[in-house]
Amino acid sequence: GRKFFVGGNWKCNGTTDQLKKIITTLNEGDVPSQDIVEVVLSPPYVFLGMVKDLLRPDFHVAAQNCWVKKGGAFTGEISAEMLANVDIPWVILGHSERRAILKESNEFVGDKVAYALSQGLKVIACIGETLEQRESGTTMEVVAAQTKAIAERVTNWDNVVLAYEPVWAIGTGKVATPAQAQEVHCELREWLEANVNSEVAASTRIIYGGSVTASNCQELGGQKDVDGFLVGGASLKPEFIDIIKASL
Ligand code: 13P
Repeated sequence: GRKFFVGGNWKCNGTTDQLKKIITTLNEGDVPSQDIVEVVLSPPYVFLGMVKDLLRPDFHVAAQNCWVKKGGAFTGEISAEMLANVDIPWVILGHSERRAILKESNEFVGDKVAYALSQGLKVIACIGETLEQRESGTTMEVVAAQTKAIAERVTNWDNVVLAYEPVWAIGTGKVATPAQAQEVHCELREWLEANVNSEVAASTRIIYGGSVTASNCQELGGQKDVDGFLVGGASLKPEFIDIIKASL
């Protein structure tokens, strides 16, 4: 079976004091064991070390991005080998905010995923359509192209979690219905079966992101092909504990 996965993406938020408070709340939270659910928190780079040191040992940390290849003269970038060197196990790549605002292409994201995996990192690879794309009926085409750019560059999917995050649902309070999420997750699994192989299709976790809260997570998480969540806003609040419990 696919172990439930709950990621918290803190994006570009938080001060030392605010994050320490959140960590205290998370550390005191009563949640299912690591056999049931994998929990990963992703603070901004400058807080990664602090969060890693203070966070309970059954929760793990992720960077929110990394450089596309070996480090060197790339001012402002952080390389995958640096993350591995300081024992950061996970990295989020291809988040829609980076695709839209920083203009990261499908190919660039695919290259990043492949390089991060080659350095021993585990990757939360994000995909998702805009409202315009959904309304014009191209959702599956868009997410298939995003997934294809990853699949063309990756041979071992063991360390990949695919995060389906419809752009129109991110930070809007406009969550996908459980049926909308299930439909895309199911089609993505079928895409993996047809274009990678059935083993990868069966074992790769496909998680949902976009306005997940304590009140909608149970129904979303109950969908057959929804293997967890990538949570933004609600991961900065105590309700994140309740979202982790949706794994039960
Ligand atoms: P929200 O949960 O705030 O909608 O953000 C989702 C997201 O982008 C997680 O990566």
